[in-house]
Amino acid sequence: MILVLDPAMDELQQQEFCLKLQKRGFFTRLINQYGQLLLSVDGPDEEQFAREAGSLLGVAEVIPGKHSYFLASRKCQRRNSVIRLGTVDGRAVDIGSDKVIAIAGPCAVETEESALLLAENIRQIGGQVFRGMVFKPRSSPYSFQGLGRAGLPILDKIKRSTGLLILTEIRDPHEAEMVTDHADILQVGTRNMSNYQLLKHLGQCKKPILLKRGMGSSIEELLCAAEYIMSHGNADVILCERGIRTFEQFTRFSLDIGAVPVIKELSHLPVIIDPSHASGISKLVSPLAMAGIAAGADGLMIEVHQHPESAFSDGTQSLNPDEYKELISKGQKVAQAVGRQLF
Ligand code: PEP
Ligand code: MN
Repeated sequence: MILVLDPAMDELQQQEFCLKLQKRGFFTRLINQYGQLLLSVDGPDEEQFAREAGSLLGVAEVIPGKHSYFLASRKCQRRNSVIRLGTVDGRAVDIGSDKVIAIAGPCAVETEESALLLAENIRQIGGQVFRGMVFKPRSSPYSFQGLGRAGLPILDKIKRSTGLLILTEIRDPHEAEMVTDHADILQVGTRNMSNYQLLKHLGQCKKPILLKRGMGSSIEELLCAAEYIMSHGNADVILCERGIRTFEQFTRFSLDIGAVPVIKELSHLPVIIDPSHASGISKLVSPLAMAGIAAGADGLMIEVHQHPESAFSDGTQSLNPDEYKELISKGQKVAQAVGRQLF
């Protein structure tokens, strides 16, 4: 459970308060972030304690339950978080404002030549962030695992020659250290949303984190995962709905479009959708992207490949540059219709 403490409590009062709870067998951890003073309390008879905690001196609010989060919630911050991702062409790129952003690129960086050509196309068509994955979490150990460390200089080249911001995925703290000077945004994929040691580590990272919803995770679990990163020091978290596993077999996953307005109500963090991984089928990507913009998403993540039929991975859900161009032009109209702008 979380106790929101009166921020006016001085250090001695905080320590005395913690000591009292520790004597009753509770584990406590103080979190002093973003002007909020929180106390994480866990231990025996937590539910019983939650009922009495509200009346203790210095406690402003009690947030009970095993899915408790506060820093990621609207309770902590009423206004939308606007996260600065970097600059493109000398202009700041923010997510969470009235502008919808586009993140586009291949499932995996395959060769320098193909990645550079695609990035240049994306730059011309529109989009602020190039997704270039070099560490690929694959369901089968026999599938292409990405170029690994050898792909990092390619990301540098793409940034230098196109000016696009770079997003790349990391699967463990070691990879996070390796990519930090080569990427503007670090992605935690669906399979790692519940890798809590990684999330804690990313709390110390100075880059924005794009956190994908676990394919079998609830919205509350996603917000708790964001809280892990935030309570360890990094407030720049972008959430991503990328489809969840349901009984439906036609699509690869089911895009939970309702998650967008629900997250917007519960949290101040920006939310994007990934219709490519959600559907697994290229012809469904554009309609789902339109639904995402209409539902209030702050960004799109779209897989694009110069020749989807020969992609090393996820070719069936990748758009070619012409299809991506069409999606962007439709998306601009939908964004305008809901009072926003697609860049
Ligand atoms: C990806 O974005 O490349 C990816 C693997 O996505 P997910 O983790 O959503 O499957
Ligand atoms: Mn992919």
